[in-house]
Amino acid sequence: MDSKSYQLHVLFLPYMAPGHMIPIVDMARLFARRGVKATIISTPLNAPFFSKAIERDGQLGHDISIRIIKFPSAEAGLPEGCENLSSIISWDMHANFLKAMSMLQQPIEQLLEECHPHCLVADMTFTWATEVADKLRIPRLYFSGTSYFAMCVFDSLKRYEPHRRVDSDFEPFIVPGLPDQIKTTRQQLPDYLKQTTEHEFTKLVNQVSESELRSYGVLVNSFHELEPAYSEHYRKVMGRKAWHIGPLSLCNRNIEDKAERGNTASIGKHECLRWLDLKKPNSVLYICFGTLLDFPAAQLREIALALEASGQNFIWVVRKGELRKHEDKEEWLPEGFERRMEGKGLIIRGWAPQVLILDHKAVGGFMTHCGWNSTLEAVTAGLPLVTWPLFAEQFDNEKLITDVLKIGIGVGALEWSRYAKKILVMKDDIEKAIVHLMVGEEAEEIRNRARELQEMARNAMEEGGSSYSDLTALLEELRALETSKQESAVH
Ligand code: UDP
Repeated sequence: MDSKSYQLHVLFLPYMAPGHMIPIVDMARLFARRGVKATIISTPLNAPFFSKAIERDGQLGHDISIRIIKFPSAEAGLPEGCENLSSIISWDMHANFLKAMSMLQQPIEQLLEECHPHCLVADMTFTWATEVADKLRIPRLYFSGTSYFAMCVFDSLKRYEPHRRVDSDFEPFIVPGLPDQIKTTRQQLPDYLKQTTEHEFTKLVNQVSESELRSYGVLVNSFHELEPAYSEHYRKVMGRKAWHIGPLSLCNRNIEDKAERGNTASIGKHECLRWLDLKKPNSVLYICFGTLLDFPAAQLREIALALEASGQNFIWVVRKGELRKHEDKEEWLPEGFERRMEGKGLIIRGWAPQVLILDHKAVGGFMTHCGWNSTLEAVTAGLPLVTWPLFAEQFDNEKLITDVLKIGIGVGALEWSRYAKKILVMKDDIEKAIVHLMVGEEAEEIRNRARELQEMARNAMEEGGSSYSDLTALLEELRALETSKQESAVH
């Protein structure tokens, strides 16, 4: 049978957290644009975050749809309606969330048997996905949503455990065996890497690593030119089979797609663009710490004071979860802050149309927690970064930004912290980093480097570019695999 004469069907299984869901949905849309039938598995309260975009793609003739399964919130001890990691506020709730995830295995297995796709793309958190795909004799592709760099650092730390050979949490050490000399401290490592006992989370992380190794291959939201040495290291030294197909955010081309990506924005797109249109090029700093973090009120105040003292224009996103925690008393803002900042600063309470904002010419910098999506979106927009990592692999991403790519200035974050309860960085340090990045002596040089990467990012996704070609190669391989399976069934 000719491998081009039938349509590939790929099932996409995203983790129920915005930073994982957003890129997998973009990925499914990209596959559908390349002629694949794409089905995204989601739950009742997660699907509305992206259903409009999928409808729009359907109207354009792309074969893409959503299949809904129930999320077992109550059965796992979570409050009714809690279907997304962004509403989790403690480690206990986190454990229940993982329990709910594990309960999804059976319904997903059933759905797979029903749809019988040619391939399953599943987020790293579905540790049983490889096994489930094996039963159907289809390849499982693994997606962790982070950089090659972070995956290489993680592998080295797990393999060589250099953090066990230092005397204190503050003593810098080199992460062995990497293409560059990367230094870190024990303080910046996630708890699950430092645990010596069989901690629940450590166990899960080990299962994730096993399922990565056993999967057919790995999809990476990155492009070769961004981290060439690490894309080589991952494949050649670590021996993984991988395809980079990003930056995935570039599949959002029109204003609707950019403005509605991931959630309904808390500010109208026209209002947002009008505000930005009044500002000079590169004069606005955008500040957003992703979708999971809740700073305590005292830390938000430090940020507000730093923004005011820096004298820069800004758009600052404060999450709904954070606001709820402070009971909407606005005690986190210094007295009269918004009045004084009128015309100079805009606070978005809730969800910002991030990609739309970053792509506006008035924006000249991004203060970020170094989540990988935000980092790549900044690169794609040609923006330099003020880096403030907090948890997950964000300290690794910071090192890629500041030490390897040299497109960012750190605020001096020292400590890995998932549910932060104290002030982590003081006003003066935040202000210093902002001024340095936006108007400091090196600002132009850093911005130029960021612009060069922007050009490379866009080229990578164009026909003939590195990410475009990697996706072509993957689709050809999947088709060939299916063809040989069908041929061997005939003989
Ligand atoms: N995002 C957004 N608006 C917001 C906050 C976040 O559009 O107000 C998007 C952002 O563009 C990115 C994702 O949410 O695509 C966050 O992913 P990231 O990996 O940066 O951080 P996480 O939230 O996973 O820590």
